[in-house]
Amino acid sequence: MHKIGIDLGGTKIEGILLDEKYNTIQRKRIETHQENGYDSIVKSITSLVSELHGKIAEDVSIGICTPGVINANSGLIKNSNTQCLIGMPLKNDIEQALSHEIVMQNDANCFALAESSLGSAKAYDVVFGVIMGTGVGGGVVINGTLHKGRTNIAGEWGHHTLHPNGNECYCGKQGCVETYISGPALEKRWREITGKKESLQSIVQDFSDEKAKQWKEEFLENFGIGLANVIDILDPDVIVLGGGVSNIPFLYDEGKKAVYDNVFSDSIETPILKNSLGDSAGVFGACLLNI
Ligand SMILES: [Zn+2]
Repeated sequence: MHKIGIDLGGTKIEGILLDEKYNTIQRKRIETHQENGYDSIVKSITSLVSELHGKIAEDVSIGICTPGVINANSGLIKNSNTQCLIGMPLKNDIEQALSHEIVMQNDANCFALAESSLGSAKAYDVVFGVIMGTGVGGGVVINGTLHKGRTNIAGEWGHHTLHPNGNECYCGKQGCVETYISGPALEKRWREITGKKESLQSIVQDFSDEKAKQWKEEFLENFGIGLANVIDILDPDVIVLGGGVSNIPFLYDEGKKAVYDNVFSDSIETPILKNSLGDSAGVFGACLLNI
């Protein structure tokens, strides 16, 4: 069967139509316009799906990759950093509008599925896929199958507590991993330490100065403890990193060392790899949800 995958992001919605062999027939990207609210997002998604489906005559499977967590019982979106989706029955509303069944999963699960089937983690059985971007998430794939967990929260290491009285998180807790090592959190911390407003990309160009060293040290420690906790529980065969923060080269040497230093083992060797699908993991993962 042909597959349609939709990746709903904070700034763009991307859609792809694949044939049975995962060849791309059509791909299209539109803007999300969060400011126009929930109904407009639903409308954008359904018209993108209809447009892609219009390219072929036969039926398709439809998978959607969304930010946030989908409550296993109610189907409502919770804990999304695209705030207008919180508490909304997105899956149900899209199915109603399309009169077609869909499968929906969060972006970290789609990322893990895509990288384990088509990307960097292809050679491994137990894969922990990490997204470090606007938020921090994770997904677990075991032998090609997504491990969603009983309550659909497996892999959500971004909301493990790193510092009990630490930074406030939108999820209602304090000190979550996400509030330290997401892109916005890292840029905010840089402003606090140096007084300078800079993008992550420019921050990581130069660590000669003492303040920059302090920022990097804190980042490595938070990254190290956060992922070491994951390894202690899951002990995956590989960890693959995605999202904007995953483009920082030092995560794959110094970052890896910081993780190893905190794992409860003296013979740790878990590979920590960069993704190979880049921005495309979301749409491909969405297509793979139906398998
Ligand atoms: Zn949190």
